[in-house]
Amino acid sequence: MAGRVSDAARDAGRDPAEITTIVVTKFHPAFLVAQLAELGVRDVGENRHQEAQAKAAELAELDLRWHFVGQLQSKKARQARAYASAIHSVDRTALVDALRSDEASVDCFVQVNLTDDPGRGGVAPEALEALVEHVLETPGLRLRGLMAVAPLGEPARPSFARVRAMSELVQKLDPTAHDLSMGMSHDFRDAIMEGATHLRIGTAITGNRPVAG
Ligand SMILES: *Cc1c(COP(=O)(O)O)cnc(C)c1O
Repeated sequence: MAGRVSDAARDAGRDPAEITTIVVTKFHPAFLVAQLAELGVRDVGENRHQEAQAKAAELAELDLRWHFVGQLQSKKARQARAYASAIHSVDRTALVDALRSDEASVDCFVQVNLTDDPGRGGVAPEALEALVEHVLETPGLRLRGLMAVAPLGEPARPSFARVRAMSELVQKLDPTAHDLSMGMSHDFRDAIMEGATHLRIGTAITGNRPVAG
């Protein structure tokens, strides 16, 4: 996978060192995460709070950065802060308020919904600016940039180009919030072409996921 990411970065005229590959380990047991850590993986992603919390506790002695990439209930926000290095799915005011803290800041990405289906998570593009402003005025959150999932059934690259354009607006509000969490197993090349800094790769690295337990 590292070779394929480097190749895509070079094709895009980019430095591979500016791209972080997060291995999404959802549904896989903790021992698989431990094996990945032995192979040098440092960034892992999970999309269900209870599963993430349990694995992070079990593997606490490993030097891993846990990225929370799934929909997060506001009432679980405090707990998620405790183990997550980054939360990629900040998508509404209530969640921002629940993540507020006077302790060390947690990295976060505002997730944008590129579909018309609110159930898919993410803030609607029209509401993005107001949400970003709210994140920036809330203590305990460090805005890294935007996150998105390409809609199913259409080419991914134009969607990622939209996110890149939205990122320019975000950077007017905070020039340091330039990161882009986008690109999965099937569309990471397109994401790299459009400036992705954080890829979230599951099956292309881990093989098929076990059926949800
Ligand atoms: C599962 C998941 C991924 C990884 O998907 P793959 O297609 O297995 O690479 C990335 N992002 C999110 C939000 C996910 O839930």
